[in-house]
Amino acid sequence: MDFQLTKTQKEIQKAVRDFCKGEFDKDLALELDQKHEFPTKIWQKAGEIGLIGVHYPEEYSGQGLGCMECILVVEELCRNDSSIGAAVALCGFASELLMHYGSEELKEKYLPEVAEGRMLSAGAFTEPDHGSDITFLNTTAVRDGDAWVINGGKTFITNGGLAGFYNVLCQTDPEAKPGYRGMSVILVEGDRPGLSTQDVGHKMGIRMMATTEVILKDVRVPLSNLVGEENKGFYQVLNFFDESRIQVAAQALGTAQGAFDRALAYVKQREQFGRKIAQFQVNQHKLADMATKIELARLITYKAAWNYDQGSIDPKLTSMAKMVAARTAVEVCDEAIQLLGGYGYMTEYEVERFYRDAKITEIYEGTKEIQKNTIASGILGKMK
Ligand SMILES: Cc1cc2nc3c(=O)[nH]c(=O)nc-3n(C[C@H](O)[C@H](O)[C@H](O)COP(=O)(O)OP(=O)(O)OC[C@H]3O[C@@H](n4cnc5c(N)ncnc54)[C@H](O)[C@@H]3O)c2cc1C
Repeated sequence: MDFQLTKTQKEIQKAVRDFCKGEFDKDLALELDQKHEFPTKIWQKAGEIGLIGVHYPEEYSGQGLGCMECILVVEELCRNDSSIGAAVALCGFASELLMHYGSEELKEKYLPEVAEGRMLSAGAFTEPDHGSDITFLNTTAVRDGDAWVINGGKTFITNGGLAGFYNVLCQTDPEAKPGYRGMSVILVEGDRPGLSTQDVGHKMGIRMMATTEVILKDVRVPLSNLVGEENKGFYQVLNFFDESRIQVAAQALGTAQGAFDRALAYVKQREQFGRKIAQFQVNQHKLADMATKIELARLITYKAAWNYDQGSIDPKLTSMAKMVAARTAVEVCDEAIQLLGGYGYMTEYEVERFYRDAKITEIYEGTKEIQKNTIASGILGKMK
């Protein structure tokens, strides 16, 4: 057992740190958050210097590295800024579906665009009536000559309206029983006639990212836009979650660490009752608890990534990592605000934004309750 990061992995962390230092500061982050504006220039620059799609093969402009290197990038980005970090981390959301299942033609066309920071991608699974439970879908895709004709609606879609393409989970066999055996992932380009988006409204955190409904009305795409196998889409999406949930865990981990860093710096300089507030034992214990939780979240997140890279994919471990890291992020950010007192509540001091950004990690890509279901079924196996 070796807990050391490799030389390359340490270099990646440093490269991301230097990138963040050079490309933005807290004032810019605050401005983008307040304007609800996607950090376009930062995202493009990240693509130019190879920080996006590090886990893609080199022939698609990736670095040919693994899930571990990918999550180190995500963690470090979110540690520097929870909002910009999340936006850059999710710029290629669900592109892994293409990477693992897409045809050569689709991969060649789209993956380099995402990796080089020229195109955003999206994964459209959730529907207004089907959130945690996507074993039922209302969105359908029907063959018509050389095309799929798609009708339906998705909601809460990250990068909606901005994405160059959406990997849409559709019902392709309406007769399938159970329904999830008749679902397929189909790539829909963002400029296809019949596709429209609408903002879902004001949200608590991750405000730089677009979150929209995606409405599909008689959208025609070539049959070759099928991603992977027909009627195997549900299983492909579940496999995708085994990877993407580790990335969410890293997002949560970086957010927790970033809030901790800020709180630590603050308590060392703030004085009350004639002493630094870091000298009060109650505050020292808060720091000890926060640091311990972060360390535990890091251990399980790295283990899940390492495991994934070994090819022994374990949904139970992935769900444990996402659940633990997300809870850690919420709890650590909460304590960080407490340590900063009234200043912590103020936007200028950043930790309130980290707190708002942390919460989504307990919701998207499967709520914490759904993670528990996965963990429990991993423990219990199939019960008769
Ligand atoms: C900002 C944001 C971005 C998102 N981005 C995307 C995206 O890019 N693509 C996409 O497809 N989706 C996206 N989502 C959707 C997200 O994945 C869903 O919101 C989430 O899966 C929960 O679904 P729901 O909101 O319908 O809640 P529901 O499924 O209605 O759940 C409500 C509550 O009931 C609980 N619950 C439901 N079923 C069970 C059960 N069997 N056991 C125990 N508890 C249960 C849930 O845990 C939750 O607490 C995004 C959501 C948000 C808010």
